[in-house]
Amino acid sequence: MHFELPTRFGSDQFGGCYAPETLMTPLLELEQAFIGAMADPAFKTTLLAQLRDFVGRPTALTEAPRLAQAVGLKRLFLKREDQCHTGAHKINNAVGQALLALRMGKKEIIAETGAGQHGVATAAACARLGLPCTVYMGVTDMARQAPNVARMRMFGATVVGVESGQGTLKEAVNAALRAWAARCDVAHYILGSALGPHPFPTIVRSLQTVIGEEARAQYVQRVGELPQAVIACVGGGSNSSGLLMPFIDDDVRRIAVEAGGHGTALGEHAARLDGGTVGVLHGCKTLLLQNAYGHTAETASVSAGLDYPALGPEIAAHARDGRIEVWRASDAQALAAAQQLCALEGILPALESSHALAMLQRLADEGVSDVLLGLSGRGDKDLGTYQSRIGGLQ
Ligand SMILES: *Cc1c(COP(=O)(O)O)cnc(C)c1O
Repeated sequence: MHFELPTRFGSDQFGGCYAPETLMTPLLELEQAFIGAMADPAFKTTLLAQLRDFVGRPTALTEAPRLAQAVGLKRLFLKREDQCHTGAHKINNAVGQALLALRMGKKEIIAETGAGQHGVATAAACARLGLPCTVYMGVTDMARQAPNVARMRMFGATVVGVESGQGTLKEAVNAALRAWAARCDVAHYILGSALGPHPFPTIVRSLQTVIGEEARAQYVQRVGELPQAVIACVGGGSNSSGLLMPFIDDDVRRIAVEAGGHGTALGEHAARLDGGTVGVLHGCKTLLLQNAYGHTAETASVSAGLDYPALGPEIAAHARDGRIEVWRASDAQALAAAQQLCALEGILPALESSHALAMLQRLADEGVSDVLLGLSGRGDKDLGTYQSRIGGLQ
């Protein structure tokens, strides 16, 4: 039993496939299906048509001259994943994996969700393609993200509340993996970020590189050369690897921004690069927030999408090998950056994306003048937080 795609990233050998025996057969089957799909022009044609007609690709590349001037940059362009159907980049992966499931002859879909964005994207893709869908979600998250639960149910998905632990994303992933192990003959598991056992990190990254490929071509067409820096926020790593990987061999700075939360002690942030140590979570080896015994630590961030204890293995490997810089933005910095983009450019960003926006000033201070920023999602879902945390909006 062996995999054909490389299962490890970088000199630390992050990634891998730390999965129970019961999942090895479906994981190998998934890898084979993915290799076959990527080599099949008919699959690519179908995927491109769905990305164009359903997701709304290509998304715009929007110049932001007023924000650029305010932070001291010469040129700033935003890659507008907030324009994707369902409001964020997650649907690029959900549609691609749902098509992969059909190709494998699977009859149903299992997914996990934290804040609900991946669950909504998956439920929409499944409705579109006629696949029944079950989404596992922690009960704490269900209470906090009720509108997304309603959206998933409108799309016909079954939402299963997970009671264990803190009732958040970590427990939802465990429940989804267990459900998949029991039903893998008929079900495909659509994992939502560049995480989990091989081949998921590679599949998710490959389906998200459409972001960086489009943005690179759009930028060169508009400006005539590459930007000096490319920057995106990083939770598990799907939008950041999607944007940054097509620039990995270019002479540009590549930066991923983590959630600095409200403090530097363990439990007050989700900054895994400095705060984390090497460990295994949800099937892959990577940098984790954990205590001395290897118990996963609690995390904190104003943005649910960045609030995860593990950094995606490929981003973590590139960070340790010096090919991607990983910075952190605090809750307060992200909130201020969101307000600034709204006021100066008329675009309401997701709280996750606002962590990347918050680092523009630092880029300018370091002498960078031309920047491409990945705006991973829109901020309608975060209006409640903006209202309660930004003065003068009540
Ligand atoms: C989920 C989410 C993220 C974080 O996930 P990644 O896999 O790291 O991209 C970032 N931005 C938005 C808008 C999200 O919904």
